Amino acid sequence: MIYESTRGRATERSVSEAIIQGIAEDGGLYVPKSFPQLGTIDATFADMDYISLAHLVLRPFFSEFSDSELLECMRGAYGSGFDCEETVPLVSAGDANFLELYHGPTAAFKDMALQLMPHLMSASLDKCGEKKDVCILVSTSGDTGMAALKGFEDVARTLIIVFFPADAVSPVQEMQMRSAGGSNVRVFGIRGNFDDAQRAQKAMLVDEDLARKAAGLGYRFSAANSMNIGRLLPQIVYYVRGYAAMIAAGRIKAGEKINICVPSGNFGNILSAYYAKKMGLSVNKLICASNENRVLTDFFESGIYDANRPLFVTNAPSMDIIVSSNLERLLYHASGGDAEQIRRLMTELSEKRRYELPSDIRAGLSDFAAGYATEKEVLEAIGDVYREFDYLMDTHTAVAYKVWEDYRERSGDDIPTIIASTASPYKFAEDVCRAIGADFCEGVSAVRSLHSACGIKIPEPLADLENRRIVHDTTIGREDMKAAVEAVLSSFASR
Ligand SMILES: *Cc1c(COP(=O)(O)O)cnc(C)c1O
Repeated sequence: MIYESTRGRATERSVSEAIIQGIAEDGGLYVPKSFPQLGTIDATFADMDYISLAHLVLRPFFSEFSDSELLECMRGAYGSGFDCEETVPLVSAGDANFLELYHGPTAAFKDMALQLMPHLMSASLDKCGEKKDVCILVSTSGDTGMAALKGFEDVARTLIIVFFPADAVSPVQEMQMRSAGGSNVRVFGIRGNFDDAQRAQKAMLVDEDLARKAAGLGYRFSAANSMNIGRLLPQIVYYVRGYAAMIAAGRIKAGEKINICVPSGNFGNILSAYYAKKMGLSVNKLICASNENRVLTDFFESGIYDANRPLFVTNAPSMDIIVSSNLERLLYHASGGDAEQIRRLMTELSEKRRYELPSDIRAGLSDFAAGYATEKEVLEAIGDVYREFDYLMDTHTAVAYKVWEDYRERSGDDIPTIIASTASPYKFAEDVCRAIGADFCEGVSAVRSLHSACGIKIPEPLADLENRRIVHDTTIGREDMKAAVEAVLSSFASR
């Protein structure tokens, strides 16, 4: 399997090269050149253990990995560390089908890919004969940071540096990151928003001067954000599993179509669903759900991407994003691989913060529907679903639920739908307490308040947050990110 850049001016890569590199040298993103076909998915796929399923689905994308190598990676990722046997249970509440993707070690769906990526990264370094260690730069809107810290914690030959917007993550998210263990990790809060962090991070990844300095210290850079294709491929697996679980639960018959509704920020999770569809999964619509940062909703409605707007901090902070990286991959596929056009659009985006799609690319987006939910609607949805069905959603999942309800009403399309449930309600305990009318203490103590109110088991990684020690207490300006990276590299190199 060959991977090519969406901007057409970078060398084609094998999967291990693409994973090590993170982002293509022309600033584009790596995409697979073709999509292997899944064949018929029936209920037996729901009985398979997750490791075997992941191996089966992903094997064609990892052509230079042997079966045993890839299986070993899968075992390392999905063997333990998930707090339920099905790994990604499908839970129905009324007509809604929630695919719970948050049973991993940091209680958000990012674990599904970031538990696997360190294993892929280590194997890739060996395959490519890379002598330098990898310094992984991460910008996060909240959940990627912790999932990456956990995944790469004490992994040999890796060093991981995380930047998060200091005033725009939930108290639980902040405490998780600031107390992260591991001898190879550094975490910085930044004064700025997620877009600032992501822009600076992308610039560092293609900064030749910085790369030279790093090489002198024995390091090369990579990314653990969803700009890395190693993040997207593992996410295809759970959509296949979700589809099979829908058959097993009697919600659909084998071969019937489903819709998939995904709470979206950087567009990585929903792009993986699109990849599953390209591999032959019977999907009708992919419903892209946004919060009040509704740039994607406007985009799908108008064909115009307009990033000239303020970024709001909402109660679904992991989706507080204006420049959605993975949309570039979708546009590339929708244009039939027209790298020239994509380069032009992305240049326009960085210069004018706006572009308008040509009609031929727009026509390629007909698989998608979109909508957004306000903070108030999110709280109402959580309360309603809890009272009516005794099911508790986190704020991000609630965005998707509300957008799906609106979509159904607007379109009359009542095809059975999977809603990607992306985080444990405990990660956003204050707002979830508010939504169900429970009294709560502020900050991380709200986890206990929520437990008293709903009685649902607290995920183990969130159970002792109140007693954790803060080890990463630094907050810096966004203009100081590069200097921070240089300082960290020097300190590690001199050990
Ligand atoms: C990251 C995240 C999202 C958005 O996913 P993208 O792949 O960035 O679109 C939604 N919900 C939660 C809880 C997240 O952590």
